[in-house]
Amino acid sequence: MTKIQRQMAMVMDLNKCIGCQTCTVACKTLWTSDPGMEAMLFNTVNTQPGAGTPRGWESLGGGFPGGAAALGAMPTTTGFGEAWRFNHGEVFHGGQGQKTHLQVQGKAPEWGPNWDEDQGGGEFPNSFFFYLPRICNHCTHPACVEACPRQAIVKRPEDGVVVIDETRCRGHRHCMEACPYKKIYFNHASKVSQKCIFCYPRLEQGVAPACARQCPGRVRFVGYRDDPDAPIWKLVDKWKVALPLHPEFGTEPNVFYVPPVGPARFDAAGNVDESRPRIPDAYLISLFGPRVLDALAVLKAERAKVQQGERSELMDLLIGYRWKEMFGGFDR
Ligand code: SF4
Ligand code: SF4
Repeated sequence: MTKIQRQMAMVMDLNKCIGCQTCTVACKTLWTSDPGMEAMLFNTVNTQPGAGTPRGWESLGGGFPGGAAALGAMPTTTGFGEAWRFNHGEVFHGGQGQKTHLQVQGKAPEWGPNWDEDQGGGEFPNSFFFYLPRICNHCTHPACVEACPRQAIVKRPEDGVVVIDETRCRGHRHCMEACPYKKIYFNHASKVSQKCIFCYPRLEQGVAPACARQCPGRVRFVGYRDDPDAPIWKLVDKWKVALPLHPEFGTEPNVFYVPPVGPARFDAAGNVDESRPRIPDAYLISLFGPRVLDALAVLKAERAKVQQGERSELMDLLIGYRWKEMFGGFDR
């Protein structure tokens, strides 16, 4: 594989995501409006616990669990969810009717992106959920690259962004099977695989990816993975509060998550039991690995410092007071 000079990365703070889908719309508008891309969402935001996009993606296989390449299943069009049609034309432009509704052609849809939005898990009064935004992880050990028989997928040496050369792609879709995060789509019109490109044309102009730039929650930090003056390195390496999703998949993602610090549980008498978290540790470990407990401990300790009137570099960083400082120099 080509030697990577530098690696771009993203950190998403799950404590701040409000599930507004502004990132999804920003990406959709910019990159997936061509024919054959109707149902593509390079950026998704799903409710956890939940089946996600595509449905049940966490158990579809692929990647390098235990170090060896694993056979992965092909995500299906119904698993991703079809692009739904609404009667917007007749309501907004045709003067017919006042209410929008789904226009069902044939069988009514049984699944789609965010079908299980805000359902979450747990039993009342200890119900819980949080949002999980996802893009391609631009992995250091990308299963998609290794699986392609045409060498059509490459990591750009200048920034480590994983891109598909559509002139080389012949639509074998082994990449879709191999990616354990199921972040590659197939364009049935142009017969090529397509995916998130970390907005590299924007990076080349010194501008952060659209999902990060448009996020009203200031959830997303961007920058080179090894820049000691930028937030990514501080959150991942210095404070160790940003972790990869499903590290056991073995692809070494370059998207990291600050895990959600949930509220405390209610006990049987209805009193708040500060000793037990509402979001079960086991569930967070299943997503982010055992290091998540250390990360949560650091987050809680730094939060407590601020509550007692002390300053915390970590909390100042995560709040993102100065918006453009979240982008590691990609702030034009
Ligand atoms: Fe979450 Fe930001 Fe996306 Fe809204 S735009 S869903 S806050 S990541
Ligand atoms: Fe490839 Fe999937 Fe990793 Fe993206 S997330 S680089 S598509 S293996």
